[in-house]
Amino acid sequence: MSLTPPLVARLVTAEFVAALLVFPTLLMIPAPYGRYRRPGFGPMMPARLAWVLMELPAVVVPVWAFLAAGGASRGPVPWLLLALWELHYVQRTFVFPFAMRGRRATKPVLTAALAVLFNVVNGVGNGASLAWRAESMTPLNWLGVALFLAGLATNLHADHILRTLRRPGEDGYRIPRGGAFRWVSAANYFGELVEWTGFALAAMTPAAWAFAAFTAANLVPRAITHHKWYRATFPDYPVERRAVVPFLL
Ligand code: NDP
Repeated sequence: MSLTPPLVARLVTAEFVAALLVFPTLLMIPAPYGRYRRPGFGPMMPARLAWVLMELPAVVVPVWAFLAAGGASRGPVPWLLLALWELHYVQRTFVFPFAMRGRRATKPVLTAALAVLFNVVNGVGNGASLAWRAESMTPLNWLGVALFLAGLATNLHADHILRTLRRPGEDGYRIPRGGAFRWVSAANYFGELVEWTGFALAAMTPAAWAFAAFTAANLVPRAITHHKWYRATFPDYPVERRAVVPFLL
């Protein structure tokens, strides 16, 4: 397959359209994994294996697309942006799944398959777009890099807090506290949203903005559902906490 700007433009358009469809769908039908796992979504698979298989294309495909689009001969800026991407996805693929706690964790094969499809499309678009991106960085682009790193730190810290709510082998849920959980119920999603908004500001490519939009379409509805679930489940849930955007939403 030869990577051309018109092909990437079509993939980016498809991703924006998918974001518009996914947002209302997930507001009505929570993705059936974790606390919303329920029958009716076909065969299930072990969650750890699902995470590795789902996220592996997000590690490999962007590097392939970057090189196929001529990235090898580019200067340090496109490489730096690709390295930020890989920093996130190597952690998500090879560290996060093995740190998860919970004995019965499974995911629908359907969810994993859709995630693979998304990560291939998103990886092609973003890898090629980074290869074609300008070599220079504006102050706004550097602000995006700083936001990306702050979002990554928030996401990792929040996922660490969630993980340590359970002792090894436990399955239940507790109220998370500390870090960005002081302000929002879904601190890990808040970090993820800051990360990919920062990445879009840093890269300033349509593909990176499409990914930021899709991340919001995917995670904001789930954060709202988590928030309602916490409030319904724990009578002593902190009243000042918002769902995903501190002080706002
Ligand atoms: P969740 O917050 O639903 O769960 C994360 C982990 O923490 C799971 O193992 C979960 O267990 C456990 N957990 C969550 N809440 C509690 C609690 N109150 N008490 C005890 N354990 C808890 O996150 P996701 O699984 O949806 O996402 C995981 C990571 O992937 C996040 O960092 C997220 O930002 C990222 N992600 C990114 C997406 C994107 O579009 N870029 C899409 C989806 C996820 P259990 O599974 O048993 O509920």
